[in-house]
Amino acid sequence: EVRLRFAPSPTGYLHIGGLRTALYNYLFAKHNGGKFILRIEDTDQTRFVEGAIENLISSLHWAGIEYDEGVFIEDNKVVQKGDYGPYIQSERLDIYREYVDKLIESGHAYYCFCSKERLDTVREEQKIKGLIPKYDGLCRNISLEEAKKRIANGEEYVVRLKLPHNKDIKFHDLVRGHITINTDDIDDQVLLKSDGYPTYHLAVVIDDHLMKITHIVRGEEWLPSTPKHVYLYEVFGWEKPTYVHLPTVLNKERKKLSKRHGDVSVDDFKSKGYLPEGLINYLALVGWSPEDNEEILSLEDMIQKFSFDRVSKTGGIFDKDKLDWVNGHYIRSNSIEKITDLAIPYLIEAGLIDKEFAKTNREWLEILVDIVREGMSHMSEIANKVEFMFNNEIKVEDEEALEMLKNENTKTILEAIRKELDAIDEISEDFSNSLMKVIQKATGIKGKNLFMPTRVALSGSLHGPEFAKIIYLLGKQNILERIDYVEE
Ligand code: GLU
Repeated sequence: EVRLRFAPSPTGYLHIGGLRTALYNYLFAKHNGGKFILRIEDTDQTRFVEGAIENLISSLHWAGIEYDEGVFIEDNKVVQKGDYGPYIQSERLDIYREYVDKLIESGHAYYCFCSKERLDTVREEQKIKGLIPKYDGLCRNISLEEAKKRIANGEEYVVRLKLPHNKDIKFHDLVRGHITINTDDIDDQVLLKSDGYPTYHLAVVIDDHLMKITHIVRGEEWLPSTPKHVYLYEVFGWEKPTYVHLPTVLNKERKKLSKRHGDVSVDDFKSKGYLPEGLINYLALVGWSPEDNEEILSLEDMIQKFSFDRVSKTGGIFDKDKLDWVNGHYIRSNSIEKITDLAIPYLIEAGLIDKEFAKTNREWLEILVDIVREGMSHMSEIANKVEFMFNNEIKVEDEEALEMLKNENTKTILEAIRKELDAIDEISEDFSNSLMKVIQKATGIKGKNLFMPTRVALSGSLHGPEFAKIIYLLGKQNILERIDYVEE
């Protein structure tokens, strides 16, 4: 059985690149009928952010990425489920300690008493000499007996990995192929910190082994760490997992996506009104494509088609225009009930409607959302698109449109409309569908000369959604008020 995990650190909000990593893990696990696990890697207590675990979980849940084991939220509480827990690393300190002791006993790790000041000096000197900064190994030769004495005396220490000299470490990566790195180019990694917490490198290896993880799928920024991990598997005598390092998600300038250059967190996209299925569909394509090059894919499609053979080695470019296109597809193809539900909070926030209005005018709102969703790429655009429906004192910004209002024809048309409206109680769908034909007959004005001025007078702009629907939705009273306003 394949078992994959997503192992974020709770240091902030879920980044769009992290969501893609989670997605690929999930897709591969499900494609192979395996398990997907969420583990929280919180061994760096200095970087812990309050609420980050909850945010990670709710972001994954929102995106529709479900996991089988790990950390969940139930009744507003963080709970853990599965046979391999705990799944929060800070609750596993005893386990790490046990394995660190084993490494020390077998001579694969050693106590190091070097102060931060000393390490800084060593690093500075190496830099001046043009060397890549690396621990110089001073404490490697302290005997275990002596080290234990120093510890008993209260000296502060860390535990480091004792890498052999000049040994090639080899592993295979499903995306990057065979990789060989010599231990002379790697640091004697700290495994246990002075605060008693393991480093990521130790914890990740122990947990992946104990949790029976078969495939490790993570960002390529972890590639330089992998040889250390592979070495640890070797000295523990454990079978190592299959590695997959994913290309970093880049922006169009081929730089890492960063907060300074726009949206990066899943929350940002959620609050802009991207649909989870749109975001997930697009993200899957950042660095992967199915064999048939299909671009609109449901989660089910992706599970069925996913493989690492088609994950690219080079950076995936995050193209917001393409995301907008994919998301627009989902805005148009989802049921109007669902899209209206999503639209309502934005309309309330913009002050166009309130909750009561949303309840009592549901049908009206659905027609309105339906006529504007065609041109939308995310839900937060909705308020701008429908604003003109809520204020009878229409705003005309376009010069050409303004000119049109001054035209004599416009007056003739509006008067003809007023006359038709005066003869009825309320606008029916039939009335709105035939109104312009009636006006054409009455005034002799037709085509563009008829439609453009009418649209400008009643909606404020030259272009927009289906006009007969606008007439129907505005209703008699609003149209009369708009005509009065324009004629003033
Ligand atoms: N905790 C690491 C992170 O935050 C996980 C890396 C890994 O998947 O091994 O990215």
